[in-house]
Amino acid sequence: MKAVFLDRDGVINRDLGYVHRIEDFHFIEGIFEALRYLQDLGYTLFIVTNQSGIGRGYYGIEEFEELTEFMLRRLKEEGIEIKKVYFCPHHPDQGCNCRKPEPGMVLKAAEEFGIDLKRSWLIGDKESDIEAAQRAGVGRTILLNGETLWERIGEIKE
Ligand SMILES: [Mg+2]
Repeated sequence: MKAVFLDRDGVINRDLGYVHRIEDFHFIEGIFEALRYLQDLGYTLFIVTNQSGIGRGYYGIEEFEELTEFMLRRLKEEGIEIKKVYFCPHHPDQGCNCRKPEPGMVLKAAEEFGIDLKRSWLIGDKESDIEAAQRAGVGRTILLNGETLWERIGEIKE
């Protein structure tokens, strides 16, 4: 299968910094259209998100999971299926292998779902997202520089 790996904050929702409350979760303009477009091209969608706010003690896994449920429900209402959400809860000092730019989350998804990484995309808004993709062997990437995914979607044609 071919996949699109999506960073969350700054790609799906506005990055307000350590977003963990539903009232602070604002979908970015055009994201539903962009994700439906990718689905229609036959991509399976995953989210790979650093959540060091958990490791830093700003919020708990339960709050993260509640927000994830809300996000997935809204996406589903818009006809979008996210196959799985991978998150790294660790503090940067913990030296884990999942916090981007480490490739752990992408590699885990590839192993669990048999993803052809060369035919896949990763979309992020930070260099560390792109580095994680490159280390994992994801063939194609988009680094959003203040644009929305919908504004860049034309780069993905097949
Ligand atoms: Mg981001």
